[in-house]
Amino acid sequence: MRIRLLLTTLPLLLIAFNTGCVKNAATGRSQFNALSTEKEIAIGTQAMPELIAGYGGVVPDQALRDYVTRIGMSMVPFTEADYPKLPWEFTFLNSGVINAFALPGGKVFVSRALVERMTSEAQLAGVLGHEIGHVTAQHVDDRLTRQTGLQIGAAVIGAVAGQSEVTGAVELANLAVTGAGVYALKFDRNQESESDSLGIRYMMKAGYNPRGMLQVMEILNAAGGGGGQPEWMSTHPLPETRIKRIAKRLNRKRYANIDTDPALGIYENRFQSQCLNRLKRLPPPAK
Ligand SMILES: [Zn+2]
Repeated sequence: MRIRLLLTTLPLLLIAFNTGCVKNAATGRSQFNALSTEKEIAIGTQAMPELIAGYGGVVPDQALRDYVTRIGMSMVPFTEADYPKLPWEFTFLNSGVINAFALPGGKVFVSRALVERMTSEAQLAGVLGHEIGHVTAQHVDDRLTRQTGLQIGAAVIGAVAGQSEVTGAVELANLAVTGAGVYALKFDRNQESESDSLGIRYMMKAGYNPRGMLQVMEILNAAGGGGGQPEWMSTHPLPETRIKRIAKRLNRKRYANIDTDPALGIYENRFQSQCLNRLKRLPPPAK
């Protein structure tokens, strides 16, 4: 019985793995993508409303939401391959919890408490660029594949053979990350570094000084030092390691002129007037 099962499933598994293995345009890494772009978008779109509600809704100021969207969208054209065509959305959560995260398929979130700790637009671009990097490097897909292994392969077969392709994949993905939620998947050291490096690439192309990335990491690290750990650290571990790695990267020759290059800015004044000042006028977040 068991042998028969193996004999029938094995060729199908091989087909699934062969068709799923592609080179990622952002990272250059070969990846097994159990989830197609359509499925990733479906997962992100499905999880989004619940996630927004869980984080106290959106910041109640259209101009502020537009501001965050504008900075996120300024980097999108510089993502690789077909990534600019994803249905990107940048959501400004009205939450007192320090956090930022992304869902597969181009949904990026940043919390009010995190933005309130920043002092420049380049820092915000650093956080959003990093989250864009998680999407383009398809890190959630990586994690799902690693965690559920052959289960995903089996589901892909089921989807190929079966009827409701998207529903099946979404259910499976939900199953794989039940409880913590897809956004709370912990990324490992290499994935974090990969996102930092992609974030630096995107922010520089959009005209931001990559020093903003380093500054925001230092701010987060300091926020973690005073007792209450920002929730951000549970989904983005190892801030000190990352600070060291980013600092080391910015010491390279190619970054020697970042502070004097007229094409790159930090934009502290603009951030103050268009973002921080408006935030101060809003009632504090409920949670
Ligand atoms: Zn991250």
